[in-house]
Amino acid sequence: MRKAYSAWRSSSDRKNVSIPPMSDPFDFERPRRYAVMGHPISHSKSPVIHSQFAQQCGIRLDYTAVQVDPGGFAQAVEHFRAAGGGGLNVTVPFKVEAFKLASRLSDRAEQAGAVNTLKFNDQELYGDNTDGVGLLRDLESNLGVNLKGKSILILGAGGAVRGILAPLCDAPKRLVIANRTVSRAQDLSEQFSRLSGITIEACGFDALSDQHFDVVLNATAASLEGQVPPIPEDIFRPGALAYDLMYADQPTPFMIWSRDHGASQVVDGLGMLVEQAAESFYLWHGQRPRTGPVIQALRCP
Ligand code: NAP
Repeated sequence: MRKAYSAWRSSSDRKNVSIPPMSDPFDFERPRRYAVMGHPISHSKSPVIHSQFAQQCGIRLDYTAVQVDPGGFAQAVEHFRAAGGGGLNVTVPFKVEAFKLASRLSDRAEQAGAVNTLKFNDQELYGDNTDGVGLLRDLESNLGVNLKGKSILILGAGGAVRGILAPLCDAPKRLVIANRTVSRAQDLSEQFSRLSGITIEACGFDALSDQHFDVVLNATAASLEGQVPPIPEDIFRPGALAYDLMYADQPTPFMIWSRDHGASQVVDGLGMLVEQAAESFYLWHGQRPRTGPVIQALRCP
């Protein structure tokens, strides 16, 4: 564990974020301490996002990115709490460990079996999952997409899909999960069909021929490897949306492929990232920040 803790404390792993100036010179209240924990973590945009939310809301915040070694997560969380932390965001590969560690869970974390937000309440460790609501807000509020009556294809069956499935079950015409390892898609379809009462189909990529969708969500990690899942070239219906949960400064391989194969709207997951962060921020601070200016600032730094 000492290894993980020293990684957290080392200045090279710690990203300091700017703290808004005190409006009252006699306000000696210490900044509230929060962090995101993951491995790796240096790429994380969460410190910048939460810093901008805090400035908007006039909250003095100390939000850092903490790299934790595998095996050291539980102790890193405990040390952070003991050092006065108010809560944590959790990212790959610790979302399931955070789920197991939490002493109380929100319904959506319970359904997802994964936690991306922890809140310290006295002795309680409250776990939530804001990925699903983050995706839904980006789709519906930011992009104006109405999912009701649509055919939706989800590519991938990993941790991100666990977080987004429940809110997507609300009245689509058709919901299909396709994954490289078909059994993982089948497990999720069984679990979430039972929970939601709708039928979720599961298959491999090769079973998608002659099928067409209004919305295709890429929740695989293929873009990280510069790859696109092997899906048919005519997968998109006229007017279709292609959404890659991954985000990058450049269009991802899936976005480029989708544009070349008939998707009308092609989007990355930056909006989802900011929206899920806003929901965590609300859970911790009771204030809902405006997300539009933050998304815009991150797109055009
Ligand atoms: P994960 O749990 O590791 O799951 C990875 C998924 O990708 C699995 O379904 C895996 O298939 C599949 N996969 C990996 N390499 C592939 C390839 N070369 N071709 C086809 N499928 C491949 O990861 P995760 O946490 O679900 O994250 C998935 C993506 O969502 C990542 O890009 C992540 O950055 C993104 N994400 C974004 C947000 C956001 O806020 N925007 C939030 C969460 C996640 P197998 O089951 O066959 O291994």
